[in-house]
Amino acid sequence: MDRDQAQARAEKLCDEISRHNWRYYVLDEPELSDAAYDALVRELQQIEGEYPELVTLDSPTQRVGAAPAAQFASVRHAQRLYSLDNAMDLGELDVWLERVEPEVVRRGCSYVCELKIDGSSIALTYENGALVRAATRGDGKTGEDVTVNIRTIKSVPLRLLVDVPGAGQDSLFHEDSPTRIEVRGEVYMPKESFARLNAEQDEAGQPTFANPRNAAAGSVRQKDPAVTASRDLAAFMYQIAAPRALGVETQHAALEWLRAAGFKVNPDIKVCAHAEEVHAFCEWALQVRNDLPYEIDGVVVKIDSLALQDELGYTAKAPRWAIAFKFPPEEKTTVLREIRVQVGRTGALTPVAEFDPVTVAGSTIARATLHNEDEIRRKGVRIGDTIIVRKAGDVIPEVVGPVERLRDGGEIEWSMPSRCPSCGSEVWREEGEVIPRCTNAGCSAQRLERLGHWASRGALDIDGMGTEIITRLVEQDMLHDVADFYALTFSDLTSLDLGRVKKDGTPQFLGETIAAKLMTSLAASKVRPLARLLFGLGIRHVGSTVAETLASAYRSLDALMAAAEEELAEVEQVGPKIAASVRAFFANPENLDIIERLEVADVRTADPEIEGERREQTLTGLTFVLTGALERHTRDEAGAALKALGAKVSGSVSKKTSYVVVGAEPGSKYDKAVELGIPTLDDEALEAIIETGQPPEEGAE
Ligand code: AMP
Ligand code: ZN
Repeated sequence: MDRDQAQARAEKLCDEISRHNWRYYVLDEPELSDAAYDALVRELQQIEGEYPELVTLDSPTQRVGAAPAAQFASVRHAQRLYSLDNAMDLGELDVWLERVEPEVVRRGCSYVCELKIDGSSIALTYENGALVRAATRGDGKTGEDVTVNIRTIKSVPLRLLVDVPGAGQDSLFHEDSPTRIEVRGEVYMPKESFARLNAEQDEAGQPTFANPRNAAAGSVRQKDPAVTASRDLAAFMYQIAAPRALGVETQHAALEWLRAAGFKVNPDIKVCAHAEEVHAFCEWALQVRNDLPYEIDGVVVKIDSLALQDELGYTAKAPRWAIAFKFPPEEKTTVLREIRVQVGRTGALTPVAEFDPVTVAGSTIARATLHNEDEIRRKGVRIGDTIIVRKAGDVIPEVVGPVERLRDGGEIEWSMPSRCPSCGSEVWREEGEVIPRCTNAGCSAQRLERLGHWASRGALDIDGMGTEIITRLVEQDMLHDVADFYALTFSDLTSLDLGRVKKDGTPQFLGETIAAKLMTSLAASKVRPLARLLFGLGIRHVGSTVAETLASAYRSLDALMAAAEEELAEVEQVGPKIAASVRAFFANPENLDIIERLEVADVRTADPEIEGERREQTLTGLTFVLTGALERHTRDEAGAALKALGAKVSGSVSKKTSYVVVGAEPGSKYDKAVELGIPTLDDEALEAIIETGQPPEEGAE
């Protein structure tokens, strides 16, 4: 394939991948299998690797790529992003409706009801169809430039479905359409992803998010776009900043325009002719809010006609043509019966509130974690208190606080026990940590948790190996650590006393059918991906996401064990704290013994190689630009070799370029490098890098 052919092919692939991306992330109607989609992406990556100058900013391969930022630039919004006036109940909503209804009826226009997505607002700017900027709302006048982060959100199109205005290929644009378009919407995190993220944060000893809104806002404002990319975010768009310029005259037409342009638009939108229909929609939304996969905190009612909107105008803070009907928070009261201390598999002692069961946000809850002692003190809850409970983000049960006026003096203040509730060892709270731990490695509660974790779904997934069986196996001395799982035999299992008696008074043993199933599950669990094994080992601070990262960086347990701490800390998303924890884990002889026995039992500890040998990613974070003729390689070969080491290869020199490799008769890129003061490398230096895999020494010229 020559360069022209490659370019044509790359453009086709870009379009096709963008389209499938849209079908998958926006419409949720994939047309291709994952494998076929991946094949297209790989082909594009390969072409872009060979011809780095063909990489475009809106190429689907370029979603993540920017280096971590020290600070976000501030962005002045072309048009102000307003807040919304709130109606706290249907009565307040009626006050607003009564004010606007006569005019709405007189003109025969309507209302549009939309769900109020509880996330973080965002303004996106497209120039000639390509996403050029994403900004947060900030104070409405000035926000922050979070483009590199928003680019990682797959439901945000990098280019509009239809390309350039005026190109005449569709009805979305007309002759005089502006080439620059701003749209607004809400970035959100689905409830399920929020729950998973918090579990991972807990696991990694990181602070959890109070609700999906905070999680979304926090993810959008991450300094490192790779972290944002790892968070499951999506965005619903609901507004065009200057709709009239596109020939759009109503809010519902604006939503249709957005949908046609490739944005994700919430499907639950209702055009209502009268106040009663608006009421009905609000009632309906209240009914379904718990069943939606994302959190909403109300309904936004807007006047449909943009002409009428303009006439009504704005107050200092909010439009007069819209109102947010806010849902009452779903909170219930109940009685706190007990604060029980749970011992985690790393020995962490977590206080858990146990209260009389109540139904909140669609399900019954009876317990909620209180996280730690400081949190209990801050909330000021005592055993026996009447407490207010709710669900954070409609999913995670949470104790809001006590109703102090209902106290009768019999309530008991709680404090963390000084001994482990399971093994009685003294607990230890490390300097600067909020969580005390039982440091007894032989603590049976910890052991049970560790074994249960190994067998759990996200880890080795030993189907059928539940808490009860594990507890019995431990009691009957058949199971001490995770390697013992694989020493279990069929007859071991059938000799397991379940601690119950049958009708005839004889003890009940584990049945043969179950035992046989467990043997199959155990065998199946031996070939899980490396990431699951790493997660299963229960290394502190290694949650499922970090496990994935480590597995893809090292691909085998041996390689990971051989990695030095400094090297581990360099892996993206790892850092010194996790690196130290990983090293400490593999320095422990007991753990090494377990790993050895796992290997003897044929538990898979390496991922099968996908394609050829994989080199260490020593050049991650560096961007190279090649110019001029090289002696020993073509530029494409050299580029591919650098990429194989984790570097980025770019077609043009910018301030972000780390090095410019200069061959014979270099082009204008060389001049640009000199102008910007970018260090240059010669042929020889390049060869050294490719051979040793080591980045050039500081100050190389
Ligand atoms: P508030 O922050 O309570 O003043 O509410 C205004 C915010 O609601 C806006 O800035 C948006 O971020 C958000 N919002 C969520 N869904 C919608 C929607 N469908 N229409 C308008 N605003 C919405
Ligand atoms: Zn203990």
